[in-house]
Amino acid sequence: ASGYTLLRDPHHNKGLAFTEKERDAHYLRGLLPPAVVSQELQIKKIMHNLRQYQVPLQRYMAMMDLQERNERLFYKLLIDNVEELLPVVYTPTVGEACQKYGSIFRQPQGLYVSLRDKGRVLEVLRNWPHRDIQVICVTDGERILGLGDLGCQGMGIPVGKLALYTALGGVRPSACLPITIDVGTNNEKLLNDEFYIGLRQKRATGEEYDELMEEFMAAVKQIYGEKVLIQFEDFANHNAFDLLEKYSKSHLVFNDDIQGTASVVLAGLLAALKMVGGTLAEQTYLFLGAGEAGTGIAELIALEISKQTKAPIEECRKKVWLVDSKGLIVDSRTNSLQPFKKPWAHEHEPLGTLYDAVQSIKPTVLIGTSGVGRTFAKEVVEAMASFNERPIIFSLSNPTSHSECTAEQAYTWTQGRAVFASGSPFAPVEYDGKTFVPGQSNNAYIFPGLGLGLVISGAVRVHEDLLLAASAALADQATDENFVKGSIFPPFTNIRKISAHIAAAVAAKAYELGLATRLPPPRDLVKYAESCMYTPVYRNYR
Ligand code: NAP
Ligand code: MN
Repeated sequence: ASGYTLLRDPHHNKGLAFTEKERDAHYLRGLLPPAVVSQELQIKKIMHNLRQYQVPLQRYMAMMDLQERNERLFYKLLIDNVEELLPVVYTPTVGEACQKYGSIFRQPQGLYVSLRDKGRVLEVLRNWPHRDIQVICVTDGERILGLGDLGCQGMGIPVGKLALYTALGGVRPSACLPITIDVGTNNEKLLNDEFYIGLRQKRATGEEYDELMEEFMAAVKQIYGEKVLIQFEDFANHNAFDLLEKYSKSHLVFNDDIQGTASVVLAGLLAALKMVGGTLAEQTYLFLGAGEAGTGIAELIALEISKQTKAPIEECRKKVWLVDSKGLIVDSRTNSLQPFKKPWAHEHEPLGTLYDAVQSIKPTVLIGTSGVGRTFAKEVVEAMASFNERPIIFSLSNPTSHSECTAEQAYTWTQGRAVFASGSPFAPVEYDGKTFVPGQSNNAYIFPGLGLGLVISGAVRVHEDLLLAASAALADQATDENFVKGSIFPPFTNIRKISAHIAAAVAAKAYELGLATRLPPPRDLVKYAESCMYTPVYRNYR
């Protein structure tokens, strides 16, 4: 290839880091200024430039430009500055990017499968330049973060998630494939936006939707085989549960909004109980919000209790209560409940408000997954503190403005006794002369390691026990040092090490369950996981 082409190939481009010898060998003389710099200096320069931008979206665009220009530099930058850059390439900034995706759109970064491709989805997949795909992240854009239907512009989400698969979990970039299924959008604003990039029609539903998804799932398996991981992301809950249920029997599928959330929150609970004592089975759980996150977490808690106590899962579910927009989910509501809520309709009188439910159920653990901010009012949190020495309170709704209560409120209203975690990050809180560092229950703790574990073991199905294994592995990574500050999650700076441990635990479980096809199993799974991880240091081109 000519030097000119090399500079424009993001997989190989090193910019000013091409050495004198490489410049000679690859026809780069004159195409670059004379300075030869290290990757470290390039990173220093880019971080300096990024920090000049006051508008988060500009940082996002600068990052995306870098990804398209120099892939290794992009990943090195992200890995070395993970705490600072995670909010740029993922939430909250990616949300704004999706809302404005049409007007900031430059280069397509993934594959678009639309209703127009019906009957030839396989052909579309064949147009993607790489064949050795290990992880697909796919959305239909109907429930992007907490922002609702963004149609085709949801593409920012699979792109961002897969960047994290690589940076945090070490899956090779060329093995990752972001896909958006475009079946239209019901977002009037987008339909009337001249810069909108998707199909201008209302969402297809029912058979038309199902058929496109079926064709897509069949084509994926045909072209990439049985071991490709398909992560469903940000589907509305009416499709999310059905798709997961339907394809978990025939494909390696995982829904991060349901299962990834469940796994990270269970890890948080396991760590919280290490901190304050007690077992999962001894707790009583109350959720505000009974959607993908709420019922997903509830089910994984019940499953883990069932494993620990050998009690039937139906019994274990009775320790978990959920409140939705209509009040406490109880048996008298069964007939009008969506299928995923039915297992949680326990015997109880109907209650309309969260406060009444808290007073009646007296939970030890209160979890917010409603998407509605400031719903853990002072009286609710104070009630939790009145009958619990150490109330466990998770405000998981995103973004920050939707959090059920702030970290400061949780600590203040419980006189510093709450074990608190949130979906969006909160700064440390000073209370009564003590500093509390709230944990962030970020799915990015789990999915990259889980994905790596599936890939390195050649797993062909995601079993619930793999999620439990991931939770336990993450909980093990929280140390006394974290607990002293009140944090139930380890810091993100160690995320690649954490991911390797999660991957090893997941792979070990996959082998145990006979779901792994990469045989024989490696001797030391942690070492093996680490050795498989992509590292973005530059290669030498001779
Ligand atoms: P979802 O499937 O749409 O579910 C939302 C649930 O909240 C529904 O059950 C809904 O009730 C209920 N709800 C809405 N308004 C309510 C109100 N005023 N009072 C009581 N319940 C109300 O959404 P999701 O995917 O579960 O996500 C929910 C939230 O969790 C989002 O803010 C998301 O950002 C957050 N989340 C956090 C994490 C994390 O921390 N790692 C992970 C995933 C999601 P109906 O069923 O009656 O409509
Ligand atoms: Mn999501």
